[in-house]
Amino acid sequence: MARDPRYDILFEPIKIGPVTSRNRFYQVPHCDAHGHNMPYGDASHRGVKAEGGWGVICTEQCSIHPTSDAAPYGETRIWDDGHARQLKLLVDTVHKHGALAGIELAHNGYAFSNRMSREIPLAPSSIPVHYNWDPISAREMDHADIKELRRWQVEAAKRAQSVGFDVIYVYAAHGLGIGQFFLSRHTNHRTDEYGGSLENRARLIGEMLEDTLEAVGDKAGVVLRLAVDEMIGDEGITWQEEGQAVVEMYAELPHLWDVNISDWKWDSGVSRFFEEGYQEPYIAFVKQKTTKPVVGVGRFTSPDTMVDQIKRGVLDIIGAARPSIADPFLPKKIEEGRNEDIRECIGCNICVASETIAGRFRCTQNPTAGEEFRRGWHPEKIPEKGSDDGVLIIGAGPAGLEAARALGQRGYDVHLVEARSEVGGRVIRESQLPGLAKWSRVASYRDIQIGKMKNVEVHLNTELTANDVREYGAEVVVCATGSNWRQDGCSHANQHAIPGSDSENVFTPDAIMSGAEVKGPVVVFDDDHYYMATVIAEKLRKEGNEVTIVTPLMELARWGENTLEFEFVMERIHGLDIEVITDHNITNIGGNGVDIVHLYADKGTRTIPCKSTVLVGSRLPNDALYRELAGDPAALEKADIKTLERIGDCLSPGAIQVATHSGHKFARELDAGPQPDVSYKLERINLEHEIAVV
Ligand code: ADP
Ligand code: SF4
Repeated sequence: MARDPRYDILFEPIKIGPVTSRNRFYQVPHCDAHGHNMPYGDASHRGVKAEGGWGVICTEQCSIHPTSDAAPYGETRIWDDGHARQLKLLVDTVHKHGALAGIELAHNGYAFSNRMSREIPLAPSSIPVHYNWDPISAREMDHADIKELRRWQVEAAKRAQSVGFDVIYVYAAHGLGIGQFFLSRHTNHRTDEYGGSLENRARLIGEMLEDTLEAVGDKAGVVLRLAVDEMIGDEGITWQEEGQAVVEMYAELPHLWDVNISDWKWDSGVSRFFEEGYQEPYIAFVKQKTTKPVVGVGRFTSPDTMVDQIKRGVLDIIGAARPSIADPFLPKKIEEGRNEDIRECIGCNICVASETIAGRFRCTQNPTAGEEFRRGWHPEKIPEKGSDDGVLIIGAGPAGLEAARALGQRGYDVHLVEARSEVGGRVIRESQLPGLAKWSRVASYRDIQIGKMKNVEVHLNTELTANDVREYGAEVVVCATGSNWRQDGCSHANQHAIPGSDSENVFTPDAIMSGAEVKGPVVVFDDDHYYMATVIAEKLRKEGNEVTIVTPLMELARWGENTLEFEFVMERIHGLDIEVITDHNITNIGGNGVDIVHLYADKGTRTIPCKSTVLVGSRLPNDALYRELAGDPAALEKADIKTLERIGDCLSPGAIQVATHSGHKFARELDAGPQPDVSYKLERINLEHEIAVV
């Protein structure tokens, strides 16, 4: 199919100084948790995006010197030629597919404590380091330090250019770039020519831009990534005042402006609180101040929104981090008129959490993200089927749907059987809760894909028993029957049933999602620590109930810090006048209230009067069907069932990404032979050094 002419504008080439991007799709710098330790994984992850049609592919933030090591986070580095050689893998892979390669040179200033290099962090002023509350201050940079910093930037830029990078950054954004720390009153308390007036505070950014342009500007595009608003009011940069003034000051200096709002939680806003294109009010002014192209982000997944942004003069180039992770082939799909095939980012920020938990890169929508090199998984291609076996998948939640989609793509005959009247399992139910509507795309993307496959049949309103399964006639049986929230409240703080949890007035998230009638006042117990307790509290509060949340931790919904939503959750909960009680466990649930005790102080028992309690603890696999089938191997053999497996929450309950990954993994491994103990490639340290024995 040809692309819709409405989208032609997205495919116009665009100049970035001396280089030209083939189109307006631009993967802005984003972390992918491969860092300097896994250059092959990084190159492969970026490479599939170049193959998928993006015009520019950037690295994540790339440290220019050991005084900025970002540990414990991996992060790329360009401290020496060895690091540059590693990064060349990425450049070559990206070039092979016709895209430009960009590098975000970064000095993180006072952001991190340099846990690995143990160099004293640097900052415009003497202030404690920002992340992780490490007990160390950054030291105020003197003139010699500033001169050194400028030299590191120049040397890094030359090194980057020498291995082929086409686009090179000066970084002043996300509460991570030193340019921003000098610019902002918040972090710059100097009184010399680098402090005080805006002109003084902006001096370093101007110098770094000029230095970088002089070093590489005739061969590479030079970009300024600037936070035009720090979202802390007059204490920092605001788009209405100093943000605008800086853009005016350096309007024509960079070849490209990459603009956003700071810090990361604002730039990568979760869909629970932020809509597609939400940064427009802050960054829209930039194009009025410069003739240079402007790139910005806003979780853009709709080609109509992208065109609209360009036509209305908001942006010249469509920047994307998360949409490019969820669908590396997004540009190609628009180009080929296949918009309905776009695997839309749902804005859950699990990808961000890969970085914050220092884990393997992952994405809820795209199970191949981070697996491109080590498992050889491609987001669009998959090996053909390895047998003519028929496959029966029981349960059409994220795991069952993804397994059906991927097995269908491999060419297997698949029957996907679902007890409910629609596909989607937990994501459809959860997407009815406040703020989670976008999550339904996990189901609808897969439903649309499966709908196009003649070899995949979906049967709804059909609850299968073990006998039904044995009589079905499929050689491969996959239980994707999900999980259920525990009624007894067992989870982290309680390994045994909470007394009274079996009473009529005690509910689980499943009951709430099924429409149980709950009478207020309500106590919600959060011993899950992700989103569920707070969205349920929000729902019940909005329905007019008085709500109190109790949690054994010091903070509510604490895991949400990893997805950058924690502070917005707190704002919502307090904004709704929901009372929060931390550091307490529930000891008993009675007819008139819930008994709680403080975990660290002997304050006796306190009763919170309430009519209902919602226990948000943990989930148990819904695996009775699997166990019954597995428990009778003779019957399986008689039924000619060669393979019986369980996937997703039925195997072990987890976040949605665990289920899509599990479904995809099963589909890839079916008929692929026995898997070795280490089922993926390792990136090993090059053992070229002699061991120094002192
Ligand atoms: P996951 O996250 O692992 O995909 P979900 O809980 O989202 O799990 O989905 C599991 C689905 O399986 C639900 O939609 C549920 O209705 C369905 N299901 C459970 N048991 C059966 C069964 N015996 N027959 C058919 N469908 C079932
Ligand atoms: Fe989008 Fe979630 Fe995937 Fe991140 S993990 S790219 S937010 S779908």
